Formats: sequence, C-alpha cells, structure tokens
Amino acid sequence: MTDVPPVADLSGVERFFVLGDDEVRALQGIDLVIRRSEFVSIMGPSGSGKSTLLHVLGLLDTPTGGSYRIDGLAVEGLDEDAKAEIRGRRIGFVFQDFHLLPRLTALENVSLPLLYQGASRRARRERAESVLASVGLGHRLSHRPSALSGGERQRVAIARALVSEPAFLLADEPTGNLDSRVGGELLDLLEGLWRDRGLTLILVTHDPAVGVRARRRIRLQDGRIVADERAA
Ligand code: ADP
Ligand code: MG
Repeated sequence: MTDVPPVADLSGVERFFVLGDDEVRALQGIDLVIRRSEFVSIMGPSGSGKSTLLHVLGLLDTPTGGSYRIDGLAVEGLDEDAKAEIRGRRIGFVFQDFHLLPRLTALENVSLPLLYQGASRRARRERAESVLASVGLGHRLSHRPSALSGGERQRVAIARALVSEPAFLLADEPTGNLDSRVGGELLDLLEGLWRDRGLTLILVTHDPAVGVRARRRIRLQDGRIVADERAA
C-alpha cells in the first residue's frame, strides 16, 4: 500500500554535535522509510549512531540537517508543544531501564499518558486494565515497580507505551537489563503484539540475537546505513 504515508520518512537526516573545535557527525545523511506494521531492528557497533537515530525518530532530538515526516506530517518547524503532543499521542517509548514512576502502581503508571490527554477516570482505568491484561499483567494492577520482577516492569513499560495506540513503538535495548530467558520472553511478547495487532516496532540493539528477531534489519556504521535487509 504505497498510497499510505509511511509512519516515518527520513531524508538526508544529519545530526552533528559541535564540541569545542571538534564536530562529531553522529548521523550523516540517513534516508529511511518505515511503513505501518513493520518490525525493524537497528543494529551497529557502539558509537555508530543508533541512539541518536532513535532520539530523532522519537522527536527527543532535532536533526541539524535533512527532513523528517511522521505519518506524512513534516516535523521541521513544529514548536516544542506540537512535538510534545506528537510524542504523547503517536510515539511509544520503551527504554533499557524501564523509566517507571516508583510511587505509582502498575495501573497508575500505564494510565498516566491518558491523564495528560484528558481522558476520563473511567476511560483511563478501562483502557489501562485492558492493555495490562494484553501484556499478561492483569493480576498485577496494584503492584508498585519495586514489587515486580524486571521482566514484569518492562511489561508495564510496554503497556504504558501502547496505551495511547501510538503510530510506532521505539525500544532502545529493551532486554538490556534482563537475563536471557526473561529477555527472550519479552521479545516473544513484542513479536506477538507486532504479529497480532499490526504494531509498528522499531528496536535498537547491539545484540545480534535480539536484532535477528526483526523482519527488517538495518545496520549503522559511522552514522550511515550500511545494510538494510529483509528476512525471507
Ligand atoms: P550508539 O547508540 O550507536 O552507541 P550514539 O548515537 O549514542 O551511538 O552516538 C553516536 C556518536 O555521537 C558517538 O560518537 C557519540 O559520542 C556522539 N554523541 C551522541 N550524543 C552526543 C552529544 N549529546 N554530544 C556530543 N556527542 C554526542
Ligand atoms: Mg546507544
């Protein structure tokens, strides 16, 4: 369906950092189109620009050159409020270290994005419960993060990322703090959400065993895409 705008469309994207007299070229001309329901991994050695690219995709950082469209909407020139609105409604984030609020229960953590969006108390609760159930945590609604295992905390983070029905989910080393068995289960969960719900999933990892789970595998080196392959 080439008439559907890509969820993410980068053209000639550059991100240079100036450090004194030096310039670090973290991204050097990235051309990348990601369509709905793709499962993409971004791999590459440390320092190759993976996190910078993820931050640009997530509107957490602004490129120094090139153009970026989300769902067909040009991002350049949007003010911070407009970007925050897009981040909140269209982009889900999952980080290596979960980023949950420790004083809030699982249900409250997952409800929070909906509170910012002005949803009613009842809508927040129903939606958060249903998303937590879909990640296998329907029995952990009232638990705080400290009472949950690492794998359960990351499931709460995934539920929070999905509660706004984002256009895509960005995950930076989502299994980096989990042992391999729990990490594998988490990848099974993400893959199931992708397969069953048409989730668009963009996953950054340095771990080849994680990266090969994706159907499309992008490799970065020195801020450039050096490979972009699809699994048979
Ligand atoms: P990766 O995630 O692949 O390890 P990064 O995207 O974090 O790589 O970094 C790519 C390059 O950009 C590295 O050389 C890094 O030092 C540099 N870099 C990243 N963020 C900054 C920043 N805020 N200021 C200066 N240099 C940065
Ligand atoms: Mg990184």
